[in-house]
Amino acid sequence: MTYILAIDGPSGSGKSTISVKLAEILKIEYLNTGSMYRAVTKYFLDNNIKEDASDCKISEALDDINIDFIENNIYINGENVEGDIRTDLVTKNVSWVSANGLVRQRLVEMQREIANEKSFVLDGRDIGTVVFPNAKYKFYLTANAHQRAIRRFFQNESGFSIDELEQAIIQRDLYDSTRAISPLKKADDAIEIDNSNQTIEETVKTILDNMGKDDVV
Ligand code: C5P
Repeated sequence: MTYILAIDGPSGSGKSTISVKLAEILKIEYLNTGSMYRAVTKYFLDNNIKEDASDCKISEALDDINIDFIENNIYINGENVEGDIRTDLVTKNVSWVSANGLVRQRLVEMQREIANEKSFVLDGRDIGTVVFPNAKYKFYLTANAHQRAIRRFFQNESGFSIDELEQAIIQRDLYDSTRAISPLKKADDAIEIDNSNQTIEETVKTILDNMGKDDVV
């Protein structure tokens, strides 16, 4: 039997690193849904599609975007953009793009299709609440904003200081958790793990300890 393992939480809570490790250990597939919102954001920026674009323009643009994953790298229309989607510019714009209902509808459909036939770990903001509300396993990772900023800083993806990153993280959390459609929110039946003072390995172990023996081989 296939199953879905949903890992939600705010930026810098360790979701993607932990999900990659879980996929390896459990020998299941991994889908990073944040990278899909980032890829669409990059496409919008490259094609001059702005926050005030009409629904018609957004729909047309979405029709023109083909997203593929090859060996955990994301491709837009055949181009590998994995290295271009974590820039400060994309990060600054991803919140308004991901708050758009048309974008969400399209990407949620795609996520459900991709994870349809095999067991998958998906990380994001709305996996346990919207994309797969019936997921077999749901975890919600958190950590304090300062700790998350330090993690982002050492990922070397940004030109910002730790304090600037912390402010940006607080802003993005606020935007993501107060948007009208699919806000960042713990599913009622998700297990919450605050990993501010945990190593990656400790969080992975906590998750595995809370999964059924049949699925943890
Ligand atoms: O996980 P990551 O920080 O790469 O996600 C980037 C942004 O994509 C988030 O701040 C959020 O606005 C959006 N996102 C979302 N729903 C998801 C995954 C990401 O809205 N399932």
